[in-house]
Amino acid sequence: MTREFQVQGVPVSELARRYGTPLFVYDGTALRDRFHGLRDRLHPAMEIFYSLKANPNISICALLHSFGARAEVSSLVELTTALRAGVPPQQVIFLGPGKSRQELAACLDSGIHAVVCESIPEVALVDELARERGVKAPVALRVNPRFAVKRSGLAMGGKPRQFGIDEEELFATTDLVKRFPDVDLMGVHVYMGTRILHEAVIVENTTRILDLAERLSAALNLELRMVDVGGGLGVSYFDGESDLDAQVLTDGLNPVIEDFTARHPGTRLIMELGRYLTAEAGTYVMGVRYTKTSMGERFAVADGGTHHHMAAVGIGSFVKRNFPMAVLNRLDEPATEEWNVTGPLCTPGDTIGKKVPLPPVRPGDLIGVHRSGAYGPTASPGLFLSHGYPAEVLVHEGRCHLVRERDSPEDLLQRQRLYDPTAHDAADVPH
Ligand SMILES: *Cc1c(COP(=O)(O)O)cnc(C)c1O
Repeated sequence: MTREFQVQGVPVSELARRYGTPLFVYDGTALRDRFHGLRDRLHPAMEIFYSLKANPNISICALLHSFGARAEVSSLVELTTALRAGVPPQQVIFLGPGKSRQELAACLDSGIHAVVCESIPEVALVDELARERGVKAPVALRVNPRFAVKRSGLAMGGKPRQFGIDEEELFATTDLVKRFPDVDLMGVHVYMGTRILHEAVIVENTTRILDLAERLSAALNLELRMVDVGGGLGVSYFDGESDLDAQVLTDGLNPVIEDFTARHPGTRLIMELGRYLTAEAGTYVMGVRYTKTSMGERFAVADGGTHHHMAAVGIGSFVKRNFPMAVLNRLDEPATEEWNVTGPLCTPGDTIGKKVPLPPVRPGDLIGVHRSGAYGPTASPGLFLSHGYPAEVLVHEGRCHLVRERDSPEDLLQRQRLYDPTAHDAADVPH
């Protein structure tokens, strides 16, 4: 008997048969364990907000919310997703450098906890929208801090950025509270970077952010009802990396949080996590269509590729390395060969794994990319070659749920129009 990858007892071949490939499979138990692994150790005053950017599927959001996660959103659709998933508005914050008027209006109209503003002109627009509505708009200021974190995959602070307002500028703008009478400046947000795999770096970050928030609140005379310390907790993907230890992390963080809450008992503390919560729970499953060799190298040409999983080709990291991959239907066979795993796109860039150690691959095999629950379809060019986005299945408590249908050719074509040479749009200038 060959050993097969299973999700809560459901064999992957069964999932592939039922839903087709390529396919994302999410394990609800893994998601729960991941959330509780941190939640149960973390100081209770620190709330965990799920960053929908990592995986905006409404069922993932709803499931995480059922465990206790709140939501951090960055677009109108993400906001709508969180609300429809059942997250109460007071457990939602909205951030992003280029929010539209419509998005800001939706924030005020739905009554979310805070709009995180990233520039002073944005605060001015929120002020105007609040005045039109006769409300006070809850606004947290995103700070671009003077300091940067070391050893993060993508450092955010200490550089010119479109994100946040420079620390120096904020300290120099002491009339901010007075200048915007319809804005309720109520908090501070700092996001230091992503893919951090060192517990001590996260503890140091958090300490510095809480200190910055206190100093800002004193300098600007703003009430500190919320401090968002960002997050950026990483997961290991590559050889030589190791996962964060939730115990070590919280042993470091909790005293810092305790110290702060003792001084500011009324302040809501927020940590926003995307990748850390969802990456491990997802597997991208591709069916192998053809195998061949070219100039001595082996190629497994699969039905899925980089149009669904840009993260697996090293976008956003410094080195292109392989995600953990396996032939899912023959897990017990030793990896005796090296395979390039490629997809159906007409570009050499559609290589999801280079020289991956695998057992001999055959057409019909199912190749899985593990740790694929974050920045998959959401961060990938799914319309390349008009393939569209794959199906997504959640397995929870032993049951399978199709949580996103695969795009059909009709789905992909219906928003295009075949032009009529004898007609033109009414708005056109006639000639
Ligand atoms: C992308 C982003 C997150 C989530 O990042 P992860 O690395 O997936 O945890 C959180 N906050 C902000 C401001 C972000 O831009």
